[in-house]
Amino acid sequence: MTALPPRPSIPPARHGARLAAARELLADRGLQALLVGVGPDLRYLAGYDAIPLERLTMLVVTPDPHRLPMLLVPRLEEDPASRSAAAVAGLVDIRTWEEADDPHAVVAEAVRTVVGRTPTRTAVRIAVTDTLWASHLLRLQEVLPDCRFTVGASVMGEIRIVKDLDEIALLRLAAHAADRVVDAIASGRLVDRAEADVAREVRDRLVDEGHDAAEFAIVGSGPNSASPHHAASDRRIGPREPIVLDIGGPLGGYGSDVTRTLWVTGGESMGGPPAEFVGAYDVLRRAQAAATAAVRPGASPAGIDAVARTIITDGGYGPAFIHRTGHGIGLEAHEEPYLVAGSEAPLRPGMAFSIEPGIYLAGRWGMRLEDIVVCGEDGPDVLNETDRSLRIADGRCGSLTGAEGR
Ligand code: ZN
Ligand code: ZN
Ligand code: ZN
Repeated sequence: MTALPPRPSIPPARHGARLAAARELLADRGLQALLVGVGPDLRYLAGYDAIPLERLTMLVVTPDPHRLPMLLVPRLEEDPASRSAAAVAGLVDIRTWEEADDPHAVVAEAVRTVVGRTPTRTAVRIAVTDTLWASHLLRLQEVLPDCRFTVGASVMGEIRIVKDLDEIALLRLAAHAADRVVDAIASGRLVDRAEADVAREVRDRLVDEGHDAAEFAIVGSGPNSASPHHAASDRRIGPREPIVLDIGGPLGGYGSDVTRTLWVTGGESMGGPPAEFVGAYDVLRRAQAAATAAVRPGASPAGIDAVARTIITDGGYGPAFIHRTGHGIGLEAHEEPYLVAGSEAPLRPGMAFSIEPGIYLAGRWGMRLEDIVVCGEDGPDVLNETDRSLRIADGRCGSLTGAEGR
């Protein structure tokens, strides 16, 4: 296997800036605390990729700049917690709890310490991050009956939506790694293989190309291509049919997500794709290109969606474009901003999202074209580089199981 390029990472001091930004937003919004459960927000703020458990792990951030955030962890998780970027940089105060302790009460006590010192005791408002388990939140509501709980996305979404240069570098590496997997699959054997077998190859290759894990591998062949989130099945791929290949996963925490549509010929004598399919793909490609070209600071996500949708509607496939044009991407595979009608908050430099229009004719065929795009100062920065044309795949060749084809 070829050596992978050195992976950039988030400098530990960056977590200090992120925690400071969270504190400022808490103060701005009149929130007394942010309770960060296990998940992408914890990873973002503390560089701690903890396991979600019934045992509580929680970062308690308050607006007070003189108070280190408390990172409460079960005793048995003390070692990984103390090796997190924020702990190593001295940005959090680690506190452990023993098996018989009540960790929710410890959080309540920490919150009360802060609230006791704020002048307005009338409306104590606490933000809770989105991925905190309901079992933990319900228990916190019991031990903090006088507090009002609100969604942490109001704070964390605002900070995470704009990516810094290190985050963009990771997104780009992830995109290029996924591109190489697309190219390998498109040039390999496909005919007579089960979708699930191809999906397994995709997952192996994503990891071989440097991903931390393969998060999804959509292989929708023939009529299955008309189901956007089709789970790879036992269906055997035949000649003269399309495949929607949509793959990705995190690399250094940051996601790849790329879709290409292949047309499997099964050999030259089988001929190319039908004119209807080629025509529809031309509409799709123009829609994706125009939506990408419309990306610039100040443009609205809804406007980008409308650019793609208008072209597909004018091409006669409006009702067949059954999902939004794109979603933000970062530590999560789907996050803000969403490119959808009604999403008006203007794009800003550093926002990263997919542009992925599709056309789906149920029971017949589907197609999608997806790239990850960063909003640059003067326009789009497209992270994926692999060929966007309709991929004509012979489908018989390849090194895996030989070229028996048909
Ligand atoms: Zn999707
Ligand atoms: Zn995708
Ligand atoms: Zn996507």
